[in-house]
Amino acid sequence: MKSKLSEQIYKKFNRFYYDFSRLLLGSSHCNQDVENKVDLEHFRNDVFYKLALLFTILGLFPIFFGAYLFFQEDNVIAGVLELLSYFVVLMLLLSRRISISVKRYIFILCVYLLGLMLLFVVGPTGAGLIVIISAIILAACLLDKKQSNTFIFINLSAFLVISTLFSFSFFEKLGIYGYKDSWYVVAISTQCIGTLFVLIISNILSNIESKIKENERIISMIAESERSKAVLISNLPGMAYRCSYDSDWTMKFVSQGCVKLTGYAPESLVNNKDLTFNDLISPEYRKILRNEWERVLANKLPFRYEYEITSAGGSRKWVLELGEGIYSNDGQVEMLEGIILDISDRKEVENALKYHNDHDMWTGLYNRRYLENILKNDGMIEETINRALICINLSTVNLVSTTYGFYYSQGLIKRAAEMLMLLCTDNHQLFCTYPDQFIFYIKDYENKNELIEFCSSVINVLSSVLISERIGGGIGVIEFDNDNKHDFDRLLKNVLVASEKAIVSYDRDFGFCFYDRKMELHQIREEAIQRELLQITADENSSGLYLQFQPILNLKTNQICGFEALARLSSADLGRVSPQEFIPIAEKTKFIVPLGNIILFKALQFLNRLNENGYDTVSVSINISAIQLLRTDFISSVLEMIVKMQVNPSNIGIEITESVFASNYQEINKVLGELKDIGIKVSIDDFGTEYSSLARANELNVNCLKIDKYFADKLLLLNEDEVIVADMISIAHKLGYSVVAEGIEYEEQRRYLVDNGCDKIQGYLIAKPLDEEMAIELMRKHLN
Ligand code: C2E
Ligand code: CA
Ligand code: CA
Repeated sequence: MKSKLSEQIYKKFNRFYYDFSRLLLGSSHCNQDVENKVDLEHFRNDVFYKLALLFTILGLFPIFFGAYLFFQEDNVIAGVLELLSYFVVLMLLLSRRISISVKRYIFILCVYLLGLMLLFVVGPTGAGLIVIISAIILAACLLDKKQSNTFIFINLSAFLVISTLFSFSFFEKLGIYGYKDSWYVVAISTQCIGTLFVLIISNILSNIESKIKENERIISMIAESERSKAVLISNLPGMAYRCSYDSDWTMKFVSQGCVKLTGYAPESLVNNKDLTFNDLISPEYRKILRNEWERVLANKLPFRYEYEITSAGGSRKWVLELGEGIYSNDGQVEMLEGIILDISDRKEVENALKYHNDHDMWTGLYNRRYLENILKNDGMIEETINRALICINLSTVNLVSTTYGFYYSQGLIKRAAEMLMLLCTDNHQLFCTYPDQFIFYIKDYENKNELIEFCSSVINVLSSVLISERIGGGIGVIEFDNDNKHDFDRLLKNVLVASEKAIVSYDRDFGFCFYDRKMELHQIREEAIQRELLQITADENSSGLYLQFQPILNLKTNQICGFEALARLSSADLGRVSPQEFIPIAEKTKFIVPLGNIILFKALQFLNRLNENGYDTVSVSINISAIQLLRTDFISSVLEMIVKMQVNPSNIGIEITESVFASNYQEINKVLGELKDIGIKVSIDDFGTEYSSLARANELNVNCLKIDKYFADKLLLLNEDEVIVADMISIAHKLGYSVVAEGIEYEEQRRYLVDNGCDKIQGYLIAKPLDEEMAIELMRKHLN
């Protein structure tokens, strides 16, 4: 509370002092930093100098009037003394040579005493009063706190002495007569007021003094913080600035860091001496930066932006600017302040990362992510131009990597990329979307013919690289339309599908295929089948998958000796789906592994049912695809199932196609050997259709060859001399295999096979694939 009051008084004094000094000395003498830089001595001297001067000047008239009265009374000495004392005070004030000195204090005290004496001796001129007050004030202004206390003490003592002397009529005894007693009272009051005045002043002064000391402390703290700020600024990895918010960003202050950042000295930029900061900003950012400043200033937000500048040497540098506006009281932008940091190193790393992100490292082409972004951006612009994607699928190159190694095939891909780059234009952009896949994004083409021509060009340039390697490939083309243009994920997928179709269609050659409605329907169905397979494998109670069983007749005994388990898929949406359709899809999506386990389980369940019904020598053979067979856990999972279902392994057969040997002959044959050891019978399915390997068939760990229906059909067309089935049977037997002929529909086929020693037959002649109940029923009838 007290400090608040003194603070107020201090402020008022300050204000008064400055208003007053402005009035007397003119504004040029006023120190602008009134709040911060008050000098104690200067302040005290000045304010009291002016007060004393005022009082002294005010005393001019009563002094002259008093002197005039002295002269009228012929008291010349008193009149001269009065004027003299006045002028001494006045001269002292006007000389303004004010400093704290005891000598001067004593001198002023003398003046004061002189005035006091004049008051008593000479009478009521009022002059003495003014002189006394002037002298007190003047004295007070010359003293520090300690001295003014001394002053008060001396004053009071002097007053006490004079009063005592008065009370003992000392002056009268000396022959000096005072006027009336009332002047004695006036003298005491004057003395009291004067002393009180000095007391108050000295108290205020001490408050001001402590305030000023506090101020000085703050000032020194500010100075310290200014110093550390200066250290900080001079060590910034960039430059600090203060500039006007104008078209040139006119710099008012620029730190030394400017030299390192821009190559120019700070002086060159300040006030646009040699160049403006706007000149430094790379042209493409100038407008963006101005807009960004406008935006942040309108909302009084901090500014943060990364852009490029051109340094004195002409090189470009990435900088990060962090700044903010300085606003006037009415919210107008007065200045901008901030720092500009060199972020070239960071940008370099960032750009490298971005490059890695957007490019295929091997070919240096933009990658799939980048293509997706472009498609996304283009998709947002409602364009009327024709657009298409052309996918060049070189997955076939992988075939050579198994022979010549990874780097050889990668080298081919790189050369292919270089050749394809020759076809790039603004409207034919090339991307490497997978290690062995390129996509051309075609814009603004005339018609389909133009796309066909472009595909031919692609084939031409690639032929030089790939034909000599006997590698083909597939080119898929998809045109954007209103249905697909926003679903770029689907676009990319469909164009890949088209390219795969082209690979299949053209085999070892190069061809192209447009993605069309038929392909789309096919794909939609395939996806529906995939969903169905997912559901079947996820839900063990699903009835979507079941088995039918086709009997195999032993021609020697004329008994049904086994069944082949054939998988069936049916769903509400798709109806019945042929295994020829869903098994390849399951193989492609690897659903075949869990699906194969379900099939094995169901087949063994049927085997158990046959057992329960007393048909314990009847076997069940199960079709196994290469993917299942190649899994390292295949044997163990079959064994586990055998144990779980408690079936006799010698009643289990598996059927594999010749093609499984193509991938890894040694490995597959080893697995088959293990199956054989367990007692499982292994048959080669569709024998004779693949590039047959009877040459080394004797090395195979199989028990039986199932001659494909193709040969059974031939029996109907050709005469006996021309068919080779008899030879196949005979060779198979020589190699130690039993033979099953598949797809037997007619009696004449059966007869031929019986005549030529075939072991078993399977086909509609015996029965079509049957449901479980029907199969059991057939057995029952057959045996009766
Ligand atoms: P596959 O193993 O050669 O099976 C014989 C196919 O010929 C069966 O077709 C069968 O119904 C059919 N067939 C049998 N006798 C005759 C006949 O006299 N005339 C005619 N026209 N056809 C006959 P399905 O059931 O459509 O199976 C087709 C293929 O699907 C099978 O050929 C097999 O490769 C595969 N498959 C079936 N079930 C499974 C399975 O559980 N797992 C695996 N991996 N593949 C299976
Ligand atoms: Ca089969
Ligand atoms: Ca077959």
